[in-house]
Formats: sequence, C-alpha cells, structure tokens
Amino acid sequence: MKRSAIVIGSGFAGTAAATSLASKGFAVTMLEKNAEPGGRARVWRKDGFTFDMGPSFYWMPEVFSQYFEKFGAQVQDLYKLVRLDPSYQVVFAAGDGWQLPAGLDAMKRFFEGHEPGAGEALQRFMDEARIKYELGMNELVYRPSLSWMEYAHPGLIAGLLRTRVFSSLRTHVRKYFKHERIRQVMEFPVLFLGAAPQNTPALYSLMNYADMALGTWYPMGGMGSVVEAMQHVAKQKGVELRTGVTVERIIVTNGRATGVQTDHGPLSADVIVAAADYNHVEEQLLEPGHRSYSAAYWKGRTMAPSALMFYLGVDRRIPNVDHHTLFFDEPLDQHSADIYDDPRWPERPLFYTSCASKTDPTVAPAGMENLVILIPIATGLEDSEAMREHYYHVVMERMQRHTGVDLRPHVIVKRSYCINDLKDDYNSFRGNAYGLANTLRQTGPWRPQMKSRKVKDLYFAGQLTVPGPGVPPALISGQVVADLIDKEHPQRP
Ligand SMILES: Cc1cc2nc3c(=O)[nH]c(=O)nc-3n(C[C@H](O)[C@H](O)[C@H](O)COP(=O)(O)OP(=O)(O)OC[C@H]3O[C@@H](n4cnc5c(N)ncnc54)[C@H](O)[C@@H]3O)c2cc1C
Repeated sequence: MKRSAIVIGSGFAGTAAATSLASKGFAVTMLEKNAEPGGRARVWRKDGFTFDMGPSFYWMPEVFSQYFEKFGAQVQDLYKLVRLDPSYQVVFAAGDGWQLPAGLDAMKRFFEGHEPGAGEALQRFMDEARIKYELGMNELVYRPSLSWMEYAHPGLIAGLLRTRVFSSLRTHVRKYFKHERIRQVMEFPVLFLGAAPQNTPALYSLMNYADMALGTWYPMGGMGSVVEAMQHVAKQKGVELRTGVTVERIIVTNGRATGVQTDHGPLSADVIVAAADYNHVEEQLLEPGHRSYSAAYWKGRTMAPSALMFYLGVDRRIPNVDHHTLFFDEPLDQHSADIYDDPRWPERPLFYTSCASKTDPTVAPAGMENLVILIPIATGLEDSEAMREHYYHVVMERMQRHTGVDLRPHVIVKRSYCINDLKDDYNSFRGNAYGLANTLRQTGPWRPQMKSRKVKDLYFAGQLTVPGPGVPPALISGQVVADLIDKEHPQRP
C-alpha cells in the first residue's frame, strides 16, 4: 500500500513538501483554505493589472533551478527569468538615489567611486561571504536542524572558523566600509531575515553574496509565474490540490496524527505536514496537551515584521523609480526600534516600492505602471482603515518629492493590505508577513522544530520553522521535511 500524506497549506513550503513526498511515492493531498494556491505569494488581478501580493525579490536563483531539476523540470521551460540591472535603487534623499548596478565587478567600481579602497574592501567582504554562502547552502540549510549534532562535522567547523559568524552584521560591515551610504546598502539584505542588522549574526553576510554576486532576478509574469510552475510540477508528480478547504483540527489518536478534520469533512493519512503558520497549527489545530510550545514561548519570539501594502494601478509612467526602489530617506534605526523595541506605528517609515511594469509589459496596460508599496511595521499593531489611509498619503508625498509627480490623481486601481488581511487570509500569527526572524537565538535548532515533540507523524514546514523566512528558505523547508519523513517512514515491503 502507498504511504500517504496530508499537507496543510499550499505556499512555497507546502507545495515543495507535497511535490517532494509525491515524487518519493507518497499519495499526497494538499489542502488550502484560500481559493487559489501560493500562500503569501498569491496574485491579485484587476482591470488589466497583475499584482504580486507578496514576494517580489527573486534571489538565489539556483535554489529554484535545483528545485525544479529534482523533478525533471527546467526553469527555462517553465518561466522566463531576467536579471535586473540596476538590481535596485536606494533613495537617500528626495531626488538623490543610488542605482546599484548588477554584478560584483560593477559594484566594486561603483563603491570605489564613492570611497577610495571600498572596491577592494568589497572584494574581501565578498570572498568571506562566499565561503559562508557555500557552507550555508551545502552544509547548513538542507538539514532538519533537530539537534546541533547535525552540524558537528570537521568541514563545517573548519569553514566557520575561517569566517566571522557571531559578531553582529552591523559590526562586521563597519570593519570594511566607512561611507555611511555604503554601510546602509550593505545592511539592507539582512532585512529579508526579518531582524535588525545590529541583532543579526554576521553569518548572514551570506545574504550580501546572494544580493551582489548572485543577483536580483525577475520571473516574467511576476512571482505568480513561479507559483504556477510549482503547481504544474506538483500536479505532474501526482499531488492532489484541494483549494477552499480549511483544516479545523488535527486528529490525534493514541499519540499519533492520523488525519485532519476540515470544513468539508475528515481525511486520514499516515503523515501530516503542517505548512501553515506554526503558531496557528499549534494553538488552533491541536489540543493543549499536544502542543510542543507554550503560549509563553510564542510570546517571547521575535517575529519578522508585518507590512502595510498598497497595490496601485497608475495611469501614467512614473519617473525616477526602478523596478525595485528602497526609500531609505529616513533613519533605519528609528523605524527598526518602532518595529522591534517599542512596537508602534512608525512616525517616519522607510518603505519599498516594486514597479514590475518597468521590466514586464504584461503586468499593466500600455503606458501605465503597476506599483506595489510596502511599509514594514511591527506585528500585532491595531490595523484600521484610517491608519492605512494616513500612511498612503505619507508615502505618496515622499514619492512626489522624489519623482516630481503627485501620483494620487493617477491612481485608477487601489487596494490596501495589512495585519488584519494577513490574519484573515493566512492565519498569520500576529499578522506577520515574513514569519519568525532569523536572530542568533532563533537560528537552526533554536527555531520551532520540524517535528512535533508531542505527536508522532506530525511535521512542520514553512517560514516559522527552519531554515527561516523568505521564498528560497520556504522552498528548502518543504524539501527537507519531505526527506526527513521519507527517512522516518520507509516504504512498507
Ligand atoms: C508582503 C510580503 C513581501 C515579501 N517579499 C519577499 C521577497 O521579496 N522575497 C522573498 O524571498 N520573500 C518575501 N516574502 C516572504 C515570502 O513570501 C514567504 O517567506 C513565503 O512565501 C512563505 O511561504 P510558506 O509556504 O512558509 O507560507 P505561506 O505562503 O503563508 O503558506 C501557508 C499556506 O497555508 C494556508 N493555511 C493557513 N491555515 C490553513 C488552514 N487551517 N487550512 C488550510 N490552509 C491553511 C494559507 O492560506 C497559506 O496558503 C514576502 C512576504 C510578504 C507577505
């Protein structure tokens, strides 16, 4: 008889787990509460505009290509990938932005033009970051992280001893560069990990390598193309996707997860993979005695930020912004304190804009722009229409100062999205957008574990467990949990 699995959630982690299990011979049913798959990477279409509702930065392209190759597919047959040049623009003051060119050599020349010696310093920084990236990808992230013993092998330890791992990323960057703007550019990539640079271990300078050496890419059609490609491959491997089905409870019999109760009735399987937000699964789908972590544990976690977003269809071209533009024209540390130290709505927020129509004519009608705005905010804040509208005007005024255009009269499609939507749509814990931050104390085995401590045959995947937040880690998480399950549930003779 075939081994069977139920996967809860069809985001990148759930789909990767389901496809990997199906290719190992499991009969897999993937359950998704929303009407369409993709989780936080869903797409919203309106009046000729196609908005990626979540991720927009496509980094670490080899994680995607290795994923598809595992199932006999090639990225180039599934979607067209283009490298962005400039990778992104960083705005430091109105009308004053740095367009960061693609490729390490170009970046070295760029830095050298602003700080003598910074080009050579960047090379040294990247030589070290590359070691960490390769160790990370080859030795660290593709492990279930159930125990530190998984990491106790000489190659890894020797590699880590050659690099700086435990000092903060901020201290690390400051050893190489003096120019304040260069320092800010070098601190930006770790924001993807959901923690402030001063609280992120220097291990994660591997993200700088991913940024500058490996590049920022864009899948034509948007992130939705990647979701479609993954669903296509999942189907080919035999995964049965059922959308519009909400899991209400995990059925536990004699200490084993044996099935789920859904709003469409019960289903049973040998193994359950919970790839929805970990906290939701523990606190809403399991009885108290079956939970691995207490309410106090969750209260003490550092969550990656939530976000206030606007999906805007603009009826004209927007000057002076690139595909990705980071508005760092206010102090990062104050905004960061408003997120992590004293959670409140930021007075002077940094924000990010994605204007995919700069690269892709299919995401907006001709002559128009597809503009997504993202303001990172603390999780758990009170979310109201009035607050959203306040920030809409804050952002529009800052954009007007930078672009010279008041875009408001040109906005013909507008939708906001924030904490309440993240909770309603994804059962997101405190309305987080990016999961659980990768601080030092929330790395590897110190993250909520992939395997339930209380219930046999119950596993977890996604951005609240290992390896961490972001699309590539979510993809990896799903594959790692599938390998673990396969090992622990060998095919019956
Ligand atoms: C606005 C935003 C911008 C981002 N930008 C980037 C970026 O540029 N680059 C990047 O790499 N990452 C980015 N991220 C992070 C990235 O999107 C996530 O890390 C990744 O998509 C998480 O995937 P996941 O599978 O772990 O979770 P999810 O995508 O949340 O998947 C979980 C799924 O479970 C479903 N579910 C929940 N509860 C139930 C239930 N009871 N029954 C059935 N189904 C259920 C949910 O509906 C959801 O579909 C961004 C995230 C957001 C929100």
